[in-house]
Amino acid sequence: MKSVCVFCGSSERVGKVYRSAARRLGAGLAERGIDIVYGGGAEGLMGVLAKAALAAGGRVIGVLPEQLAEKEGALPGLTTLHITSDLPSRKKLMAELAEGFIALPGGYGTLEELLTVVSWAELGLHNKPCGLLDTADYYQLFLDFLDDAVAAGFLKRKSRNLLYVEQKPEELIEALCSRPPTSP
Ligand code: AMP
Repeated sequence: MKSVCVFCGSSERVGKVYRSAARRLGAGLAERGIDIVYGGGAEGLMGVLAKAALAAGGRVIGVLPEQLAEKEGALPGLTTLHITSDLPSRKKLMAELAEGFIALPGGYGTLEELLTVVSWAELGLHNKPCGLLDTADYYQLFLDFLDDAVAAGFLKRKSRNLLYVEQKPEELIEALCSRPPTSP
């Protein structure tokens, strides 16, 4: 895998455990020579991830829609910055530029982005691996919900298993690099 798209929270109010995981993921990807594609911002885990990757000599590609450029602001020093006309074209470009996806803890924006790429995988629109970093059990209730959705018959077990889940950044990178792309 040469590039991975990372989705993560933009909030500044999150604890050290999440910042540390974002830092380790950014540095770990850079050390493996894997380019990072992300939202381009400087705030929250997005900024922590990108700064750690750049400091470790990695390549970081930001993709920022015009309407968020003023509100979120791009991180200075990015390897490349793409400005798109809107959110849907940002999402499309991020997906095209990356060979896999990772979601870190985040809020609505992160969940929206994660569910988009995993539902595209379910539909067979791409066969790139989708990973979830479950730092400090942040996503445990969400994962329980997915299991409930399988039990209730709304989600196929195969589709549920499209999501590779790990607690440690290094293990998630390893999982995505070593597993072949899957499709339901
Ligand atoms: P959040 O996880 O809510 O902090 O959002 C993380 C990032 O996701 C934000 O900084 C935005 O760049 C992006 N985002 C927010 N809402 C959306 C959305 N509806 N679709 C795609 N990206 C979004």
